[in-house]
This record gives sequence, structure tokens and C-alpha cells, in this order.
Amino acid sequence: MTATVHAAPVVLTMTGPPLRDGAVLVEHDRVVDIGRREDVVGRAPGARVRDWRGVLTPGLVNAHAHLEYGPPFADLARSDLPFAQWIAELTRRRKGMTDVDWQVSARGSAHQLLKSGTTAVADVVTRGPAIAVAGSLGLQGISYAELAGVDARGWPLALERLEVLLGTLGRERGISPHTLYTLSTGVFGQLVDLARERGVRLHPHLAETTDEAEWVLSGTGAFAHFVERFGFEFELAGRGSGVSAVRHCDELGGLGPDVHVAHGVHVDAADRALLRERQTVVALCTRSNAVLHAGEAPVADYLAEGSPVAIGTDSLASVPDLDLLAEARATCDLARKQGLDDPEEAVVRALTLGGAQALGRDLGRLHPGGRADLAVFDVPTAEPYRDLVEHGAGRCVATVLGGRLVHRR
Ligand SMILES: [Zn+2]
Repeated sequence: MTATVHAAPVVLTMTGPPLRDGAVLVEHDRVVDIGRREDVVGRAPGARVRDWRGVLTPGLVNAHAHLEYGPPFADLARSDLPFAQWIAELTRRRKGMTDVDWQVSARGSAHQLLKSGTTAVADVVTRGPAIAVAGSLGLQGISYAELAGVDARGWPLALERLEVLLGTLGRERGISPHTLYTLSTGVFGQLVDLARERGVRLHPHLAETTDEAEWVLSGTGAFAHFVERFGFEFELAGRGSGVSAVRHCDELGGLGPDVHVAHGVHVDAADRALLRERQTVVALCTRSNAVLHAGEAPVADYLAEGSPVAIGTDSLASVPDLDLLAEARATCDLARKQGLDDPEEAVVRALTLGGAQALGRDLGRLHPGGRADLAVFDVPTAEPYRDLVEHGAGRCVATVLGGRLVHRR
């Protein structure tokens, strides 16, 4: 493979300030040089040079997605169902899908990622057939085998299924205990222990809705009906834990630097302090929370307090597209509404370095020796962070994954 210089009016390396008239030299799947265009080109005679317009960034990191809920589930994002009914409908809909349907669905999601500059994803997989899709396309990140709807009686069978998912060849695996309301407390704890035993990362949904907060605190509300309807024997039913979802998750060992959680909407200052103390990254899913009426995460507080955050889209069952820059714009709008000025740079950090921290991997930054995962957005460049967030959605003109140009427009 010949060396390629990718040059752009602005390069955001995320390891230093924006680089004007910058360039990145790529050989095979690695970045080997970064600097001003004329210097990089001068040091690499014979390299092919691609001059892009706009802003060049590290490949974006989607810190929470379910690729398997792809285009066939898109009508659910427009259904306006209340959360508990939405989740029931999603569960019902799963029954009609064949193995091939799941793979096609996940592929549809994955192509949306590549077309919008995303090169790494935390992919939560409940059904088996789609688990290999992200890896087969070269997407970086972790596929989390998810368990939901399991109590002590269902645990032996569920564990067998989980082992199959964890054993499937492909990219790195993690474990996703779905939530504190779809698993018994005992099973949630078993999954946490299993992840630590195997040295794999954890990724639960946490503090997403007020229904969840009520269930964890007192064992009542919409999820108590849900649990009763499905006949699960969950320890929290009618009793609760007496504490918040974040604190209860911590009591079960479910927070730590090897964990990142999705949503983190209903959290108070003490919850956020605990998440920070445990170095647990929160994947914000602003648009999904709005579609599902889950509420608004305290984005301004997270950012002002220096909490580790990343950005996730969630799935096409709860968002109109998987474009992380559309997600970033919604997240910035929310932060500004909550009183934070100029959140753009912090949100771009969340899209890159935050996602890398969530996955525990060296991603989301451009440096010599690092992977050549990058994206180019045809946007104005006067204020690169702001321009990227304001105008970047739908404007990805190139995605380079492991040195290969996998999307070009
Ligand atoms: Zn989710």
C-alpha cells in the first residue's frame, strides 16, 4: 500500500490545538506523521496526497448503539409510545426476525456509522446472529453481549446463551447487564462478577427514566407492572433498594474504570460524584432520551463538573439516524439551554477521547503510531469545534478506517 497524505484546512488531532493547513500521513493502518501540510508532504516524497475541504478529525466513537435494531425497527422511533410500551413492542417485534434479518438489520446500521464518520462503536447485542457484523466491517470498539429478562430460574440457560455470544470469533467482547429492572439483583451481580473474572468490560443502561428510579428506590411503578406481567422473580419487587439507580449499581459492584453506562439521565450531584470517583464514563444519548420521553440528562453539570462523558446514538428504534454529529448538536443545544456557554469543544472531546475512555482503548485521537481511523467533514473552518457541531451532520465526505478509505462523497 502506498503512503497517503490526508490534508485539510483544519486537522483536529485531539492531542493539541486545532492544526491549520494540517496533514496526516498514513501508511498501512497507522498514522506515521502529523503536522503542517507542507512539512508532512516534504517529509514524504512519493506519497499520494488527498486535499480535503473542511475539518479532519479522528474517527468518531459511538459509545452506545444497538446495531441489530437497524432500519427494520425505524418506525418505532416515530411511534411516540411511552417507554414501557416501547420496550414491550421492541420485545414483541424481535420474535419475527430470522438470523438473516438480524444480520441485514445490523449491516444497515453499520453502514450509517461509516457514512457519518464513525469508526468505533460500543455495540450492544442481545440476539446472536448480528454480533459479528461490526467486526466484519472493521469497526473498532467492543461488542457487548447483553442479557435482559432473566431471574435466578432463567440464569443457567441465559449463561449458556451468553457463553455462545462471548465465544463468537471477531472483535473484542464485553458484557452488558441490560438494566436494574430487567434482571434480578442476583443475576446483575453474577454478570458483574463474570466480567471481572474474564477481564472484559461492562456496559449497562443506567438511570434512564423516572420509572427506573422509582423501581430501584421502592420497587413500584411502571416497571413493577412490567416485571409482574412477565412473571419474573426480582428481589426489588415491592421493596426496592432504598437508594438511587447509580448507587444501587455501585452496591452491586457495577461501577468502575472498566465500566461505562448508557444514558445517566436521572442523576443528582451525589450520583455524578460517585460516577466520577469510580471513573465510570456516561454515554449521553440526548436524542433517544427525547424520543422516548426519558427526560434530559444534566449535560451542563456533567461538563462543568468534569465528569467523564461520551456520546452514543442508541439504536434506530429510538433515533432517526446514527449520525454522531446530529447527536452532538442536540447535546450542545441541551447544554446551552441548561446554562453552559460554548459547550462545543467539550462535546467534540466526548465524541472522540470520551468514547475512547468508555471503551478503554487508544482511539479518538490522531498521533504518530496510532490507528489511521479518521473522518473529514465539509464544514466551515473559522471556528472548527463549533462549525463541526453546528454543520457536521450529514456532511461527512470521507471516512478512513485502518488506513482504508471506506466512505467517500
Ligand atoms: Zn440502549
